[in-house]
Amino acid sequence: MPVIKGTKDIFSPEIGVFDHLYSLVDKIYSLYGYEKIETPVIEYTDLFSRSIGGFTDIVQKEMFTLQDRKGRNITLRPEGTAGVIRAYLDNNFSQDPGVKKLYYYGSMFRAENPQKGRLRQFHQFGSEAVGSLSPLLDAEVIFMNWELLTGLGLKNLALEVNSVGCRLCRPSYTEKLVQFLNKNSGALCENCRTRKDSNPLRVFDCKNPECQKAFERAPLLTDHLCKECSGHFQEVKQILEQKNIPYTVHKQLVRGFDYYTKTVFEVKSGSLGSQNALLGGGRYDYLVELLGGAGAPAVGSAAGMERIILALEEEGVKVETAGLKRVFVATAGTVDRTLLLSLPDRLRRQGFQTFLSYGEKGLKAQLKEADRLGCGFCLILGEEELKRNAVILRFLARGEQKEVPLEEFSSRAGSILS
Ligand code: AMP
Repeated sequence: MPVIKGTKDIFSPEIGVFDHLYSLVDKIYSLYGYEKIETPVIEYTDLFSRSIGGFTDIVQKEMFTLQDRKGRNITLRPEGTAGVIRAYLDNNFSQDPGVKKLYYYGSMFRAENPQKGRLRQFHQFGSEAVGSLSPLLDAEVIFMNWELLTGLGLKNLALEVNSVGCRLCRPSYTEKLVQFLNKNSGALCENCRTRKDSNPLRVFDCKNPECQKAFERAPLLTDHLCKECSGHFQEVKQILEQKNIPYTVHKQLVRGFDYYTKTVFEVKSGSLGSQNALLGGGRYDYLVELLGGAGAPAVGSAAGMERIILALEEEGVKVETAGLKRVFVATAGTVDRTLLLSLPDRLRRQGFQTFLSYGEKGLKAQLKEADRLGCGFCLILGEEELKRNAVILRFLARGEQKEVPLEEFSSRAGSILS
């Protein structure tokens, strides 16, 4: 039975890279005061259509939605922010002191056309910080993630920032943009002509070269920001400069969600092809209110694990996966079961990943298996040696072996094998 298109099995050694990433996320996000949260993979569909926006590609075309037994629509989460904010409201996190900082990782689902770096089930880690209007929070989310990506060893990274304004300045800008798009609709693709009426800002995402050419003359939001938004954006940029984070302003950067306000950002990898966005995010000051809470400003980010792993591969970055030392316990002849149970226990307690032969193979086959498993050492419990209270320690790579006293070995395996 094949896996479903756009999904995949993840196993060793790739799963070791995932684990390494998870532990780095745990470390860096915790250092910045974030607490981990796990929200359900399924939520009521309405949560996503209200937060992401009814006219976005995700809501219109990409959600996996089904009906529960009572006929209610539920959806496999396409992103993490909406669920975290729902949890923030359901659990009264607004009562907690200070800025509430939460982070998560897990599977997300979008019915997109699968290609390299674009799956239908993929993994994201993300951060959400609720409760501050300060540009320092926007900048902190950006440099925290920058620290994480560069800390992984990635080099070929480009940070793009922009501001998408607020309730005050966006509507009048949108009007100007729509006027421009109407005037130039002859030069636009069909998709952009639909978008200009439903979600005009998103036209800038179009990859069509003719549309891109037309947009060169389009009015830009950054030139139409209100005083508050433009001051905020200035400060975010200044803090990034103070922190020596290299960035460029991408004046047409808009993201795929309607909830963003003010700062938006994206980190791209120069080592990947068309699916080169590793991480994105921004400020969303009205989402908490939109979902029924008392208004609270917030900033978030989300990163794609599969794309980060592809970029690591492309850049030849070797990730140190925390492997345990492996040892194989082989038997030759009849061996007392008590010893066969107690010796591996003692080895495991000393931190060795311990494999057994389960007594079904001859010694030669067991040594071969130990080698295939990548065990550096094999401990051979031989009937003859055991009569002398000894075991054989075989160094597999060198093919050498020596007899060691059983008692000494089981109590000091760590130092003998190091
Ligand atoms: P978004 O939630 O759309 O802002 O995306 C955040 C990050 O998730 C992107 O920068 C990508 O790295 C990753 N991502 C988004 N969609 C997919 C997908 N279909 N397959 C793999 N990664 C994805």
